[in-house]
Order: sequence, then C-alpha cells, then structure tokens
Amino acid sequence: MDLNDFELIYKDNRYNLKDKEKVKAKLEEIVGSKNISMNNIDLLAYTKDTSLIAFNWTLEGKIAGLADFVIWPETVEHICEVLRFANEENIPVIPYGEGSGVVGGAIPVNGGIIIDMKKFNKILEINEANLTVTAQCGINGMNLERHLNNKGYTTGHIPQSLYTSSLGGWISHRAAGQFSTKYGKIEDIILGMEVVLPKGKLISFKTIPRASTGPQLEKLFIGGEGTLGIITNATLKIWPFPAKRTLISYAFPSIEDSFNAVRQILREYIFPAVIRIYDQFETSRHFPDIDNAKDKVMVIFVCEGNEKLVDLEESITREKSENNSGMDCGEHPVEHWFETRFRVTETSEMPPYKIVFDTIEVASLWDNASDTYHSVLDSMNKLQGVIMITAHVSHFYPNGVGIYFSFGGIPAKEQTDLEYYQQCWNTIIKSVLEAGGSIAHHHGIGINRSLWMERELGESMNTLKEIKVLLDPKNILNPGKIYVNTWKGEID
Ligand SMILES: Cc1cc2nc3c(=O)[nH]c(=O)nc-3n(C[C@H](O)[C@H](O)[C@H](O)COP(=O)(O)OP(=O)(O)OC[C@H]3O[C@@H](n4cnc5c(N)ncnc54)[C@H](O)[C@@H]3O)c2cc1C
Repeated sequence: MDLNDFELIYKDNRYNLKDKEKVKAKLEEIVGSKNISMNNIDLLAYTKDTSLIAFNWTLEGKIAGLADFVIWPETVEHICEVLRFANEENIPVIPYGEGSGVVGGAIPVNGGIIIDMKKFNKILEINEANLTVTAQCGINGMNLERHLNNKGYTTGHIPQSLYTSSLGGWISHRAAGQFSTKYGKIEDIILGMEVVLPKGKLISFKTIPRASTGPQLEKLFIGGEGTLGIITNATLKIWPFPAKRTLISYAFPSIEDSFNAVRQILREYIFPAVIRIYDQFETSRHFPDIDNAKDKVMVIFVCEGNEKLVDLEESITREKSENNSGMDCGEHPVEHWFETRFRVTETSEMPPYKIVFDTIEVASLWDNASDTYHSVLDSMNKLQGVIMITAHVSHFYPNGVGIYFSFGGIPAKEQTDLEYYQQCWNTIIKSVLEAGGSIAHHHGIGINRSLWMERELGESMNTLKEIKVLLDPKNILNPGKIYVNTWKGEID
C-alpha cells in the first residue's frame, strides 16, 4: 500500500520532515522501539477523527491528514521529553485520545507526531471519603465508568460516545454527558489535573473542592483541545450509584410548550438527570409507535438519586409538564432511549448514498432558544440540496439550553462534499449567532468552527492567541485548530 495513492485533504501546511531516520531514532530512544510506528496501516488509522465528512472521504479514497509517526508513551517523562525534542526540531505533535471527536480536533493536518494516550489507562485512586476518582487521561470512558459502577459509584458523565472516548478527550473538548442536567458537564466534574505544557514542562492543579487562589488557570486546559498542553491525569467527582430511577415522558403540542415546562422545572432547583426534548421531526423518527406523541414534541425525563428526592422531583416534573399541556406517554419512550442511547449506526449509513450528514450542537439562553431553533430550521430549509434538518435538546440549565441539530443534504454537481459540508455548517452557525446563541455547546472548535471564533469571542480571541503564543511559541502542539482557519472559508 502506498499512501501517496490517496488524495490528501489537508496538505497545504504540511511540515517538511527533512531527516525521518534521525527523528525516528530520537523518538525510539525516548519511548522505546515497541512504542513507535511508521507503518502505513498505523498512519492510515490516525488520518482522521470521527468527523462525519471523513466517512465520505474514506469511500472516495481520500484521507484527511497524514502524520509521520505514531507513538504510545508510557510515562509522563516520555511526553515531556518528546515535547522538548519536538520544540527543538519544530515538529508538530497531535495528542490523540480515542479519535471520537467530531470537529477534526485530532486530525494531523500539518503531519508530525501523533501522541496516542492509550497506555495512560490506569485508575490511580478512588477516595470514598472525598468522593473522587483519579485516573490517567487515556483511559476509555466505559472502562472507567464500569469500574466505578462495580464499586457502587458513578461519575455521572455518560456521553453517547462513552465506549469510544477517553478522559483526556472529554476534558479537551469540554464534553457534556447525557446525565449532565443533574451531574454537570465535565468542567463541573473535574477537581484537579496534571498537564504537560508544549515546551515539555509538567504542571499540576491541586485536587480541591474550591480555591480562591487568583485566576483559575486550569480552565485554559478544559477545552484546550490539545493546543495548550497534554493532560496526563485528572481527578473527578464521583457519586454513589443512584438508589432509585424514575422514567417519565410527556408529549407537548409545540417546542415552546416543552421549553416552558423544562424551564419551570429547573427554576424550582429540580434537576432531572436526563431531559431530552425531541422536535416534531425527531419525535416521529424515534417514537412512531407512541399514539399520544403523534405530530407532537416528545420529552423524556430520568429522575435519579435518593428515593425521597426522586419522588419529589417526579411530582414537580409531572406538575410543570401538565401545566404546559403535556400528555403523559409513560415509561416506554424512556426505556426505548435507554436501549438505543449508544446506537449511532444511523449516521454512518448516509455516506454510501453520497449524502453529506452531520450534527451541530449550539448553546442559547432561554429567551432566544426558540428563535435559535426556528432560524436554523428556516435557513437550512432554504439551502439547496438539504433533505433533512431536525433537532433535539439534551443539555439544560436554569438559564438556557444546548440544542443539537442533525442535517443531511446532497451537494450540487459542481460542488465537492467538503464545499457543501462547509456551506451547511456556516449556514447553521450564522443563524445561531444572529439569533444570539453560541457556536458550540460540547463538541469543541477543532477545524470545523475555527472560521467563526473571532465572531464568537470578539477581542478576547486576540488574548487567547497571545496565550497560545506564550505557551507554545513555535506552534508545535496541535497546529491548524481553533486559532487558524484551516478550511480557508470566508464569512459572507
Ligand atoms: C457517536 C458519537 C457520540 C458522541 N457523543 C458525545 C456526547 O454525548 N457528549 C460529548 O461531549 N461529545 C460527544 N461526542 C464527541 C466526542 O466523543 C467527544 O468530543 C470526546 O470528548 C472526544 O474524546 P476522544 O478521547 O475520542 O478525543 P479525540 O477525538 O482523540 O481528541 C479530541 C481532542 O482532544 C485532544 N486530546 C485528546 N486527548 C488529550 C489529552 N490527554 N490531552 C490534551 N489533548 C487531548 C485531541 O488533540 C483533540 O483535539 C460524540 C462523538 C461521537 C462520534
């Protein structure tokens, strides 16, 4: 197999590796020869993350990005030394968790060294008094959660990608799990961590419930997307596994009725662990057999925890739902969600039909949630080739929501898949910004959203770029993401 036979999508800023053998010898010296590969089959495996457009490219014989080396460090010192060496030689380094990111964050757009974190897979401590778990950051999400469940605990962080993502990836993309309305998002769950900075220095943030110790620097790395440091271990909050779980569902006449019900529940300081609102299109797709939900908006709730509190949460959830014209649909829709919640085959079925498909999650305050939803649907329905645009809402706060859009469409004859994909992304993001929302709720920026970062952050984007230069003056750590418009698109 010759990798040159494949068309490379991101090739413009590829680093020019002058002396491959010299770099290989040094990397072998640092991590050992068993922990390095330059084999085509390995390089091919690390050409992409789970960006859905990359499935289309695979079928067309194209690859997204191409690294020169894949390494599997076993110790923190390995990572420090590799970064020191990469700095000396100006070689790009891309941290890689499990590659389940969906915005191109782990794609080696400039080539260089992939640092796969999979050998950082140990649970270091469970502290039952403090309710914490400390683990290495390459650990697989399901392995961590299963281990905790066997001991009677949970982190409460259960992303749909639980089986295919790592702790380091969660922190780096500021992830949000399905039970986030009760347990919080990853930034609410992290209590301490250890990070290797781009120049190879190790820093750590103490495990503590809270501190008033000046600016909270660790926040830079929660959402740093592997551009500011490599996270090696972290301490998370844990909770006793819930004693009781109650499953509730209601169908509402409109999305606005469902928003009102949920907003009123949260105002009471009641936090069902799971709340999911499916718009009318997704309700008909997921719940065709529920008569009460026909042409309606389905909402499922899971209340869990202490038995007495769960009963109270249930009664307030029901009261607010019924006050907003909700019709009880029983437990079955929630059981159906539990059975199918990790099933994601739908998305990978699209590319063989030449359909460009993806999902985009955004955030909004309550007072413009409805506008955000409708303006995205309106703008996408006007875009040529769009065959579906639907949404569900699965992350909630007393102040607002995270809305998750799914779209599918067929490019015009003269367009490439990527051009059409970019057009869909930009149409959605533009509508969200115009409606007053934020461009990303939990999947991160990576390549796909970098064009919009200046618009999203305004002047503070320049401060962020200055911090990047300060920590990584040679721009070796995960280049081509967040700060750089790798798509080379323009905002119209
Ligand atoms: C089917 C499916 C469902 C999903 N569901 C959810 C969901 O419910 N909630 C959610 O939040 N996301 C979800 N995602 C997105 C994705 O799983 C998350 O972004 C996840 O956090 C990525 O973890 P990973 O280990 O796969 O990271 P990768 O994809 O390997 O990397 C993601 C980014 O983090 C960086 N990185 C990885 N490890 C480290 C480290 N140790 N230190 C520094 N940087 C690092 C990489 O360089 C890259 O920029 C889903 C994705 C898919 C495909």
